Amino acid sequence: MDALVGHALRSPRLEVCGLIGGVGEVAVSRYPVANVARDPARRFEMDPRAQIDVFRALREENQELYAIYHSHPDGPAEPSATDLEQAAYPDAFYLIVSLAGTAAPEVRAFRLVDNAFAAVDLVVEG
Ligand SMILES: [Zn+2]
Repeated sequence: MDALVGHALRSPRLEVCGLIGGVGEVAVSRYPVANVARDPARRFEMDPRAQIDVFRALREENQELYAIYHSHPDGPAEPSATDLEQAAYPDAFYLIVSLAGTAAPEVRAFRLVDNAFAAVDLVVEG
């Protein structure tokens, strides 16, 4: 979680994105992926080649796609309409890091259920 928030904080004006690999119910790896969207301050689009490389790495490590994360530099930790349009992995969690607040960055988790995002509890174990 620290690494994920750190990634967002290193590019506070742009949406950053990446993939998280897991085994069972536990996230075990994180792969930052370049955001190649035309307007990366407001959108994210993962570099398709890098994304394929990550999926291959996950297979080789016997991991599954656990979560897809991205940041919202100016928006809340809620999926946008565009996020919903682009969401394609009902088996993965969607994590959103919001840098919009004045307090510490906020991370919330969602899951795609019946073409809508449902918030889920995020449990971080040290
Ligand atoms: Zn978003």
